[in-house]
Amino acid sequence: MTERVFNFSPGPATLPLPVLQEVQQNLLALPGVGASILEISHRSKTFEQIIAQAEENIRRLLNLPEEYHVLFLQGGASLQFSQVPMSFLRGSGRSADYIVTGSWAKRALAEAQREGDVRVVWDGKGDNYSRVPQPGEVQIDPRAVYVHFTSNETIQGIQFATGPETGDVPLVCDASSDFLSRPIDVKRYGLIYAGAQKNVGPAGVTIVIIRQDLLEQVPDNLPTMLNYRVHAEHRSLYNTPPVFAVYIVMLVTRWLLENIGGLEQMHAINRQKAQMLYDAIDRSEGFYRGHAQADSRSLMNVTWRLPSEELEAEFVKQAKEAGLHELKGHRSVGGIRASIYNAMPIEGVRTLVEFMEHFRQKHA
Ligand SMILES: *Cc1c(COP(=O)(O)O)cnc(C)c1O
Repeated sequence: MTERVFNFSPGPATLPLPVLQEVQQNLLALPGVGASILEISHRSKTFEQIIAQAEENIRRLLNLPEEYHVLFLQGGASLQFSQVPMSFLRGSGRSADYIVTGSWAKRALAEAQREGDVRVVWDGKGDNYSRVPQPGEVQIDPRAVYVHFTSNETIQGIQFATGPETGDVPLVCDASSDFLSRPIDVKRYGLIYAGAQKNVGPAGVTIVIIRQDLLEQVPDNLPTMLNYRVHAEHRSLYNTPPVFAVYIVMLVTRWLLENIGGLEQMHAINRQKAQMLYDAIDRSEGFYRGHAQADSRSLMNVTWRLPSEELEAEFVKQAKEAGLHELKGHRSVGGIRASIYNAMPIEGVRTLVEFMEHFRQKHA
C-alpha cells in the first residue's frame, strides 16, 4: 500500500482507516450482491438497507427521540444556509436571530438576509472572531422564527461548549465541523445540519435532523427538491441520493458505535487530542500564539500563529516533509490550522506535537 500521511485537512478530511479498508475490499462487489456500491440502484433492497442502517446508527449515536427525522440531502451546508430561511423565515412576517461567530456564520447570515428580516444578536467581529458568546450575552427575541448558530467555526477554530439557550424559539445549528464529535442534548434543537465531509464521510451528502413540528411548518410552494417534508416522506429517496456518500456515512457511524463505543468515548478522545495541541501552544512561551480565546477553543480545528509569516510558511513546509500534511491556516486567519476530527488518530497529534517542539527549539 502507498504510505498514508497524517492528513490535517479541514475538509474533505481524513477518514477512519478501517472504513477505507472495508470500502476498498468491497468496492468491486458488495458481499452477496455481485456488483459495486457504485453500480447498484438506489431502489435496491441492498441500498434501502444501507440508508436505513445509516439513519439507525445516527439515531443510536445521538439517542434521537422519535419526533426527529434524519434526512440525507445534497447541496452541502451551503444550500442549508438558504433552505432554512426559505422554509421558516420567508413570508413569516417575523424575523430570525443569527449569532455571528466567524466565516461560516457570516455566510449563513448573508443567505438568510435574502429571504427576510434578520437580527444579528451577537457578532464576534470586535474580537476578530476569537471567541463565542458567553451564556447571557445573547438576547433572543422570543418572537423570532428561529435562532441560528454555528457550533464550530472551522476556519477560526472556535466552538460552543453548549448551544445558546433559546427557550421556546427553535434552535437551528450548522454543525458541519463537529457533528457526531460529542454527545449533545438533541431536544434543545429544532434543526441540525451538517455537510458530511468534515467528520462523518466524504463530500456529497448533507445530513439534516429536523423536528416534526418544524417539518409541518414547511410551505407547500417551495421547489420540490427544497421541501424537507418531501424528503422526509420519501425517506431521502425522492430522487437519486448520493449513494456512495451515504454508504460511507453508514460505515463511519458504525465505526463510531463499534470501534469507538459511542459519542462519550469519542468526545474523551477528541478532548485528549485537542489538549495535547493546546498544551504545546501554551508551553511555547509565546512562540506559538493560539487564535481562539481559552474558553472558546475548538476540539476540532486548532488555529495558531508563529512570530512571522516566513516562519509559518517554513513550518508548513517542514511539517509536510515530516508527513504532516494540510496544516496551512485559512487565508482569513493566517498561520496554522490543524484539523483533528474524529478520524485523526492520537498518533498523528503526538507526531505533530513532537514536530512543534523541535521546530520551536530550532527557531525560537
Ligand atoms: C465546510 C463548512 C460549511 C460549508 O459546507 P459545504 O458542504 O461546502 O457547503 C458550512 N459550515 C461549516 C461550519 C463548515 O465547516
